[in-house]
Amino acid sequence: MEKVGVYICTGCGIDKLNVKKIREIVKEEFGIEAKVHSFLCSKEGVELIRKDLADLDAVVIAACSPRVKTATFEFDGKYVERVNLREGVVWSHTLDENAQELAEDYVRIGIVKAQKAMMPEPYKAEVSKDILVVGGGVTGLTAALEAAKAGYNVYLVEKESELGGWAAKMYKTLPSTPPYTRLEEPIVFSLIEEVKANERIKVYTSSTIEAINGQPGMFDVKLNQNGNTVEFRVGAIVVATGWKPYDATKLENLGYGKYANVITNIQLEEMAKNGEITRPSDGKVAKDVVFIQCAGSRDENHLPYCSAVCCLVSLKQAKYVRELNDGNAFIIYKDMRTPGLWEDFYKIMQEDEGVFLTKGEISKVYEEDGKMMVEVTNTLIGEDLTIKADLVVLATGMVSTLKGLYTVKEEFPDENTVPYKHVSEPVMIKSEEDLKPYLERGHILNLQYRQGPELPTLKYGFPDSHYICFPYESRRVGIYAAGCVRAPMEIASCIEDAKGAALKAIQAVELVAEGKTTFPRTWDMDYPDFFLQRCTQCKRCTEECPFGALDEDEKGTPQPNPLRCRRCGICLGACPERIINFKLYSIDQMASAIKAINVPEEEEEKLRILVFACENDAYPALDMAALNGFKYSPLARIIPVRCIGSVNVVFIADALSRGIDGILLLGCKFGEDYQCHFIRGSELAERRMENVKETLDRLMLEPERVKVVEVAITDWDKVPKIIDEFVEEIKEIGPNPYKGF
Ligand SMILES: Cc1cc2nc3c(=O)[nH]c(=O)nc-3n(C[C@H](O)[C@H](O)[C@H](O)COP(=O)(O)OP(=O)(O)OC[C@H]3O[C@@H](n4cnc5c(N)ncnc54)[C@H](O)[C@@H]3O)c2cc1C
Ligand code: SF4
Ligand code: SF4
Repeated sequence: MEKVGVYICTGCGIDKLNVKKIREIVKEEFGIEAKVHSFLCSKEGVELIRKDLADLDAVVIAACSPRVKTATFEFDGKYVERVNLREGVVWSHTLDENAQELAEDYVRIGIVKAQKAMMPEPYKAEVSKDILVVGGGVTGLTAALEAAKAGYNVYLVEKESELGGWAAKMYKTLPSTPPYTRLEEPIVFSLIEEVKANERIKVYTSSTIEAINGQPGMFDVKLNQNGNTVEFRVGAIVVATGWKPYDATKLENLGYGKYANVITNIQLEEMAKNGEITRPSDGKVAKDVVFIQCAGSRDENHLPYCSAVCCLVSLKQAKYVRELNDGNAFIIYKDMRTPGLWEDFYKIMQEDEGVFLTKGEISKVYEEDGKMMVEVTNTLIGEDLTIKADLVVLATGMVSTLKGLYTVKEEFPDENTVPYKHVSEPVMIKSEEDLKPYLERGHILNLQYRQGPELPTLKYGFPDSHYICFPYESRRVGIYAAGCVRAPMEIASCIEDAKGAALKAIQAVELVAEGKTTFPRTWDMDYPDFFLQRCTQCKRCTEECPFGALDEDEKGTPQPNPLRCRRCGICLGACPERIINFKLYSIDQMASAIKAINVPEEEEEKLRILVFACENDAYPALDMAALNGFKYSPLARIIPVRCIGSVNVVFIADALSRGIDGILLLGCKFGEDYQCHFIRGSELAERRMENVKETLDRLMLEPERVKVVEVAITDWDKVPKIIDEFVEEIKEIGPNPYKGF
């Protein structure tokens, strides 16, 4: 940007800085006459900026944090760089000479960043706003209806010949309305009718997906419907393929597969729907029925998680036993989990004299004289029990349909070769031919992505992206997961989930139509530009992009799909040739920003520490610390980055050769329970910095000068201390010997 205007606010305590001196620096070093206003975010302040806009390409606003007043300081067609003098200096530092120097450096960095930025052009293409919903259970039906009601055309694909999923196989469903005590007729049938009557929804039953190629707004879908191929294009996808029951044959210890009268909750549901709950061994009406909770659930050897509905399902099925058979139900649980208003349902079942409930451990299940015997220890009533029953029902849990489709173990049998800690990992799909083995294994999406045919999942087989901040998001832009494929849940939650995912799909098609990305840089229209003439086909970018945005040609040259991109900048951080850049975030811009820091020569007490802070958690945490009056060292210069995974090692080299004494990267938590908004950005940064440290060691420079620390936004009270401690560590090591060279 050539024409840059600088505006300094003196409100909110910023006037305590030597603003006159800052103006002089701006004039001397950049030839810019900075304007000052005592209340820049006021109508008059903004007007002061607006009056100059016609002559400017970019505006540098030295005032409050970039995280506040975003709309106030937005000027159409102009680049805006915010310099954080309020939270970043005045509110977080004792205002002495060092703080003044900090403010001056921040203004220098801001101006240089504005000068080096370029206005992005959105990636515009002819896009489809139609939505594909995969799976016609309660979740898929709801997602389809919600999207259609909002005016979008929907393709609903169901592999079975009928719609409805598991909910259509139920006799009755849980109470979903006050007083939360009466069982209900399954809602799914009215949803099916509504879907069939909606002209915007095209239903394909007995159909599976053979291939999906392309990117959001331009997904080309190939279906196999009873052997016939159907093709269409959609803009976004909702995956609602639901759950499969946990394999009860693994529960031999509970008698399944050994005794005919040990069945699963699904089998009981089927019997109730057929009108009779009987003993499979002799067809006699089952009078006394034992329900064993958490059968295989919350058990490290089977399903380590809780399936959320099984306790409620057993209470419901106990009611079937009471009403259909005039029998008695015995429910043996680890903990009874009936959240929210379902507690009322639990209470009325407790009050029923034909329902016996106790916490306990099952020590043995066996048959004696044609009856099932269930031995229970550690009961609430204090004594061990042996219950004689006609039937034993195992409350088995739910497994995501994505589980086990392809796993690290299959693709990377040697654990050490696993590139990251996530469970499903890249297998190269470059053509429909590559999809064949996956089709045979019943894959769901069959994506033609360099990073594999399916939504990546975490260890229990549930897809994820950033479950804390946005649950429906997957690691593939434009593809959202909802219902039991995403997490175990009951129908009411599936309906909520479906609405959320439909909304996300709508948001995706609308944003990509404007060339913009989604969460967490929603609305960003900038995308990475690859100067491929200098690409060495090292494949780092195509392997490390967490969102599978980059395909690859036969030689390994990246083939970008800009609409799949979440703009994290991890590819920029990865590329050893430094040929990946954004218009608003580039190697040159960052290198220049680092160079803009004034590094005093050889003065022990004037060390310079550079902190790359993730804009999603660490940077806001620092703002919050400032807001709460926490102070930290004025020797540290904080530069926000999209993700610490976007920090290229050249930034470190530049900083150290500039004489910066220490570099701290503040990023999100990584590993299995990661909180990184770009999945593995912080993990990749950690790995890159380990390599940097080895290099430093070889150069006889202390590796401790570079450090990565994981922080969450909730660590705002700890971040100032983390910075101070790092500054102290660097003081111990002493100044960078390259200073002044
Ligand atoms: C025994 C039992 C009883 C329950 N009773 C209740 C109850 O009373 N009340 C309640 O709220 N919840 C109950 N639940 C939970 C309830 O079953 C789920 O919440 C609900 O079924 C989830 O709906 P869904 O649409 O997400 O998944 P599903 O019902 O599993 O639907 C997924 C659909 O996707 C289809 N599909 C799968 N793979 C593909 C593919 N590759 N291509 C195309 N289509 C595909 C499937 O055929 C299916 O139609 C019960 C659960 C159990 C285990
Ligand atoms: S910016 Fe992020 S999402 Fe986009 S291509 Fe690069 S690594 Fe992938
Ligand atoms: S990281 Fe850079 S050099 Fe390597 S393949 Fe990607 S673009 Fe080419």
